[in-house]
Amino acid sequence: MNLSRFGQSFGPDAGIVQLMDDLGQAAAVNRDMLMLGGGNPGQIPQLQQRFRARMQQILDDGQTFDRLVGQYGSPQGHPQFIEALALLLADELGWPVTARNVALTNGSQSASFMLFNMLGGSDAQGRPRRILLPLTPEYIGYADQGAEPNLFVSSRAHIELLGETQFKYRVDFDAVRVDAGIAAICVSRPTNPTGNVLTDQEIGTLRDLAATHRIPLIIDSAYGLPVPGIVFVAAAPVWDENVIVCMSLSKLGLPGVRTGIIIACPEIIRAITGMNAIMNLTTGGFGPELALDMVQSGDILRLSRDVVRPFYERKALAAVARLEHDLAGVPFRIHRPEGAIFLWLWFPGLPMSARALYERLKARGVLIIPGHHFFPGLAQDWPHRHECIRVNYSQDDERVHAGLRIIADEVRQAFARG
Ligand code: PLP
Repeated sequence: MNLSRFGQSFGPDAGIVQLMDDLGQAAAVNRDMLMLGGGNPGQIPQLQQRFRARMQQILDDGQTFDRLVGQYGSPQGHPQFIEALALLLADELGWPVTARNVALTNGSQSASFMLFNMLGGSDAQGRPRRILLPLTPEYIGYADQGAEPNLFVSSRAHIELLGETQFKYRVDFDAVRVDAGIAAICVSRPTNPTGNVLTDQEIGTLRDLAATHRIPLIIDSAYGLPVPGIVFVAAAPVWDENVIVCMSLSKLGLPGVRTGIIIACPEIIRAITGMNAIMNLTTGGFGPELALDMVQSGDILRLSRDVVRPFYERKALAAVARLEHDLAGVPFRIHRPEGAIFLWLWFPGLPMSARALYERLKARGVLIIPGHHFFPGLAQDWPHRHECIRVNYSQDDERVHAGLRIIADEVRQAFARG
């Protein structure tokens, strides 16, 4: 079949498609596979109970259920949820937002697709405009989202070594170039895959850069502030009319309901509303309805702060302790775990590529993600890409630690073989 260039860009060669296929097949072949690979959130009993209770309430109140499943909603998204969220953000965080600043999408993955292609790509005069990722490693899920080729341009992170076993990435502002060909700047905060949280100062500088060039700064807060708040270091949630914050209900424990949230100026919200109508008629109302009472009561912020964040922080620290023990004597560094649900491991001088390590680990029943996938838009190769892996630590501790032990053993053997 003759697919258009746009159609071909969704084909099996896209990195994320290959990776998700591979993860799915590996898990289907071996049901005991230790899944430290994909992006599934953990199972947090307090949140699960809360969602189940709310579901029961929706079922018991026949009218709400019938409206939920029996009617199309607004293309901007569930109106009561949007009203309640805007109020909460204004009251609790002081953001100057109303319902005109909020739109919902079917997951924040589709939010970034819409934003990147609405801002980037050829402009009205046919000039290419690109999305700047000022710090790579960055989220693999962006890599294939451009409807036009070469949508992204990015810079390598500056590496700051911390003590004997950790490190932190910083934006290398000397390498970041913003010119008329840049349509928007985008960062995930916390960063997937590294768990890095860009500092308030870095965010401040990026905001200034974006404002100076009259382009938006997109902050992908899928793990971040204010919800689900998986941030272990001091960091301020920021928004103004030039900032686009993307949030999601997924990492709160609801990836299956596909609810993404965009906070932006009314012009962007109108454009997203139009795209929602054209692509989907409306967004799914199920997620917003499940989380509505939590937003109206403000519990969503309290649960993020008091339950979700501590759940992941404890797991992160336990995983780091396990690795520091198991990897003793092997060259390794762990990105300081500042948030999100991953550890990013760097093995300086690793005698095999991260891809080869991934294959060996898969053969031993452990799924991770090799690091080279996480550098969208980076023009030059960088040996560092092939020395890192991403590990999801959000599943059951026993299984995560069993997986970490096998990773450490495999890496130790690789260095011993040289
Ligand atoms: N942004 C980041 C940084 C992510 O890691 C993910 C998913 O893992 C998403 C966006 C998309 O999340 P969802 O579409 O489930 O809201």
